[in-house]
Amino acid sequence: MTPPRTFRIAAIPADGVGREVVAAGRAVLDALAGDSGGAFAFDWEEFPWGCEYYARTGTMMADDGLERLKDFDAIYFGAVGWPTVPDHISLWGLRLRICQSFDQWANVRPVHFLPGVVSPLRKADTTELDWVVVRENSEGEYAGLGGRNLSGRGPGGEVAVQSSLFTEVGCERVIRFAFDLARTRDRRKVSSVTKSNAQQYGMVLWDEVFRRVAADHPDVETESVLVDAMSAKFVLRPEELSVVVASNLNADILSDLGSALAGSLGLAASANLNPERRFPSMFEPVHGSAPDIAGRGLANPIGAVGSGALMLEHLGLPDQAARLHRAIEATTAAGILTGDLGGTASTDDVTKALIDALARST
Ligand code: ATP
Ligand code: MG
Repeated sequence: MTPPRTFRIAAIPADGVGREVVAAGRAVLDALAGDSGGAFAFDWEEFPWGCEYYARTGTMMADDGLERLKDFDAIYFGAVGWPTVPDHISLWGLRLRICQSFDQWANVRPVHFLPGVVSPLRKADTTELDWVVVRENSEGEYAGLGGRNLSGRGPGGEVAVQSSLFTEVGCERVIRFAFDLARTRDRRKVSSVTKSNAQQYGMVLWDEVFRRVAADHPDVETESVLVDAMSAKFVLRPEELSVVVASNLNADILSDLGSALAGSLGLAASANLNPERRFPSMFEPVHGSAPDIAGRGLANPIGAVGSGALMLEHLGLPDQAARLHRAIEATTAAGILTGDLGGTASTDDVTKALIDALARST
């Protein structure tokens, strides 16, 4: 028998429900590996970074953290943020630091409608809906450019500037990524989202690059939509969507909207990809640390488990990812739902149900 392929995964549960859903996701992924007939295994190393680490050390992650992460096959992340640390410090000190240092410039956020989950859309055919938001993940509104106290006038007269950065290379690579993804899907369509009527420099450049890349892909249907109109379209005509590509901020907002339409933020998975594979990619649920429910066993683990499925695809195990999706569908279809979906199941109940579904499916 060939020895199993062992993938080295760095787990960073970080804060709040991040810890609960990473533990759940690891249990499900280990069950899947254990059930693979020895085909593959995970070798996990857990890192204790996050807001508690910050309280002890004054930094969100170890100084040599990036060095320690760089040779892993992937990073499995929970959620960052806690009320004791300003959000911009915790986010930039850990999650965005990893994303930017490892050039994870494409953030892929699929929206799946699941059986047994009531969407607020209440369309008869919601389980037929599925789309992917591709988020530019390295620049745009998250470039960190700007400053405060620019007027020099002090309290009451403060001026702050927050600039966006759009490079032709940055726009083009993520737009091309979206087209490549569209070509793998049943519906070959890319919707580009900007606010280029009001943001007349960077987003106009984005629109121009989109038109140029679209011309190279005559087999893919395209549309260019303003973000306000796209928000309405998500709700009113979601069946027209397949791949939606947008800048960092717009895509973040749209993907929360998408996951809420699918039933809950707790369902949404994401992959922060370094498509060149020079650095590890990072897989995490879209939701945050949810301090309102943290530590009580209430968190929905499906977003984290679905992120595990995206990790399996990235590691070259698409059949195993599909198995995991079937287990998720079997679990929601059986009505085993956490509170965010109107159910009474705990994180552990859902985790056990997922593992049972895997054992039944083989
Ligand atoms: P971030 O800024 O990190 O994106 P956020 O402020 O958007 O965080 P979340 O922490 O994602 O907020 O929480 C938003 C709401 O969704 C909260 O009411 C939270 O309880 C709920 N929520 C988030 N994740 C889950 C989950 N896994 N299961 C159930 N409910 C969740
Ligand atoms: Mg959020």
